[in-house]
Formats: sequence, C-alpha cells, structure tokens
Amino acid sequence: MSDETIQKKKNNQEDTKYSMDTHLIYGKDVSDKWDYSHHVTAPISSSTTFRLDSVERGAQGFMQFANTEEFGDKAPIFIYDRLGEPNKDMLEENLAYVEKGETAVSYSSGMGAISAALGILTKSGDHIITHNTLYGCTISLFNNWYPKYDIKVSPINLTDLDCIKDTITEKTKVIYFETPANPNLDIIDIGALAEIVKEINKNREEANQIKIVVDNTFSTPFCQRPIELGADFTVHSLTKGIGGFGADMGGVVIGKKKYRDLLLLYRKDFGAVLNTKSAWAILTYGLPTLALRQRHQIKSAMRIAEYLIAHPKVDFVNYPGLSSFKGYEIAKKQMLDFNGNFAPGSLIYFVLKGSTPSETKNLGGKFMDHVADNAYTMTLAVSLGHTRTLIEHPASMTHSVVPAESLCERGIDAGGVRLAIGLENSDDILLDLDESLKAI
Ligand SMILES: *Cc1c(COP(=O)(O)O)cnc(C)c1O
Repeated sequence: MSDETIQKKKNNQEDTKYSMDTHLIYGKDVSDKWDYSHHVTAPISSSTTFRLDSVERGAQGFMQFANTEEFGDKAPIFIYDRLGEPNKDMLEENLAYVEKGETAVSYSSGMGAISAALGILTKSGDHIITHNTLYGCTISLFNNWYPKYDIKVSPINLTDLDCIKDTITEKTKVIYFETPANPNLDIIDIGALAEIVKEINKNREEANQIKIVVDNTFSTPFCQRPIELGADFTVHSLTKGIGGFGADMGGVVIGKKKYRDLLLLYRKDFGAVLNTKSAWAILTYGLPTLALRQRHQIKSAMRIAEYLIAHPKVDFVNYPGLSSFKGYEIAKKQMLDFNGNFAPGSLIYFVLKGSTPSETKNLGGKFMDHVADNAYTMTLAVSLGHTRTLIEHPASMTHSVVPAESLCERGIDAGGVRLAIGLENSDDILLDLDESLKAI
C-alpha cells in the first residue's frame, strides 16, 4: 500500500460519514499496531517476546515504552507481551474510539482494570467515595485491601447528589460508581455529578482534583459513554457485554492520553496482562457484533420487563426502559446509543412478592431451582452480556450467608432476581419465565 493510501485508510475511523455500527467492524482499518500486510482478519499474535534487529532497536524500544508524550504517534517497537503487542494494542485503539476516550489500556480482567484505574489515582491517606451498591469483588477490593493501604472508602447513596458535598473532604481523590449499578440497577446522573465535581475542582490544584471513574460494564459503550457526559475514566469488564460470548476474560481502562503511561506502567509491574488470544477474540468477535447483539438484547429486555411488571407474583421491576422505574428520567437522558436512541441495556432486576423476608428468600431459591431444572433458555449462572440468558438470585447465592432479615440493610431484596438477557428469541425466554413463575 502506498503511504498515501495508508494515511487515507487510517483516517477512515475518524470519518463521520460512516456510522458507529460500521466503525465497530473496521476500527482503524489500517493501524500502526498491525504488523501484517495481507490479512483481512487480524492474525492471532501469540509471541511472548519479539526479535530485536539490533541493540539500538532494543534500546529504542525500552525508551519508547510508557513514553507516550514523546513517541505516542510512532509505530511501536514491540519487546515483550506484558509491555504491549499487536492484538492488545489494536483492541485498545478501537475501545478508546467507541468509548469516546483518548486512550485505552487493557487488563486481564475487569478487576485488573478497576485496580489499575484506582491504583494510579490514589495513594495512602487518600479518600474514595463510592455508590453504596457495587459489584461484589469491587466491594471486596475496598474492604479487604484498601485498609492495608490506608485508603478510606465511603459508600453513600449517589442517586441523591445532595449528600455528596458533605462527604467530600480535602483528601477525596476519586468518585467511583456503576450506572446502572449491580444488582438493583440504580441510576446515577453522570452529567449532574460531573458539574458538582467541576465546581469543587476549580479550587484545587491539578494533582488534588477529584476524578470520576465509572464502571460502564452493564451498559457497554453502545448504551452509554460516560466520558462524553463528563466522567474522567471509564472501566469495563470485557468479560461481559463487549466480549459478548462468555468465552474470554478481560478488562479495560479508558481515559485521557496523559494517564496512558501510568496505566501501562501499572500493568507492566502488577502484571494483569490481557491474554493475546482473548484480545484477538474480543477484537474479532466481540466488538464487531456489539451493536447487533445489544440492539437485540435491549428489544428482548424491554419486552420481558413489561411482562414481568404485569405478573401477579412480581412485586416490582427495575429496568431503565420502564417509565415506572425511579431512574427512568435520568436513564432516558444518558443511556443513548450511537444514533441518540434510548438504549436501556440488557439487565433486568425484579423482585418476587412474599409476606416476610425469609419466606421471600425461600421463594427466590425455589424459583432458581425450578429454572435450573427446567428452563432451556435461562441458565442459573453469574455474569452477563452473554449469548445465553443468565439468571441469579443474590439472596440465595452471592449473599446467602446474610440472614434474610438483614438483607435489606445491604441493599439486597430477599426476592430480588437479576436477569441478564442473551440472544435467544424473546418468546422462548418468556415461555420459560412463565413456567417457572407458575411453579412457585
Ligand atoms: C464482572 C464485573 C466486574 C469484574 O470483571 P471481571 O472481568 O470478572 O474481573 C466488574 N464490574 C462489573 C459491573 C461486573 O459485572
């Protein structure tokens, strides 16, 4: 290819005459990280180490690593997988682009990405504010490890932004949350929070400014792009909706270019490196099919949420697409697909009716067991964003040790069920749901 053609092709990703659906498939089209001349699909690069033509090239490679300011636009000199290699680097370029961030760094899992984002932003003595409902392992990270580093974490209710000003201290460095949040799908107003933080940051030196980090796993960039709404960083578990097939683990941090070097350095030294084969799978299967899968899942989720809300055995349904849901107005404002259509996501949280917490908890357990024994289109399993619809009951699974009467204090409903819609025909999911609800 001539230099001119290469340049033209490189610009295609930036070209707005094409839709994001198409960009998801082609990405950069021609990339500096692409080391091959005639492949249509990127080959799986599976080399832990890279041949250096001379010591000079080796020295140059080490100098370029995590030195984006000086060498960012140059073709990389690959040295060793943990520092960077073609499959991960190509995936990162595309992820940054779809999430509307300047740069992306991948990790071996969502937790690897979350640890890295918070790891580069905090030090001993700092303070983090979070929403009170969060993914379980993120809570575990905060409870089991951060006390050792003397980093304080304050979980508060971020659906009510009035309380935030009283919780922020001089030492607050990060506000961290998910929206929709796991498992009850609480919605947090990213734009309104960003406005509050912007005001506070006006009086702070750059190094002390508060950063907003959003775990966007439940939405995927198809449904919501927090950086566009004012967040500083987005983190994802690529294991879920972006990976899309339940076959690979991965994570990513997306944010400003000036943090790229720290994120790379953190990955190099703490070692949560995304496997090249997983990077390849997410690049080849996950991203190009994201729009197609999400559109189908949203359509099914909307239909199933409407069925559930009308069901006599269901107490209430949290789904951002339902006008009765308390986060509906904010969701309608911030959960938008690439064309500006409302995109309320693929997760539903519904609560079974019962007279006492322990009766309701038992009912939930019975419902899960019926699903596990009989349903063809719902699988009793954690995770989400899969080809298969996955269902779980936090009270009898992740939180089974908590007594039924104390579940409420932990923000868990005794009869709460999380449903993560897959790619099945929604008629069939409704059939299985109906049978299992009849059985309790
Ligand atoms: C799964 C998940 C994570 C953790 O991701 P892993 O890839 O399993 O490490 C973090 N946040 C949310 C919201 C998740 O669903």
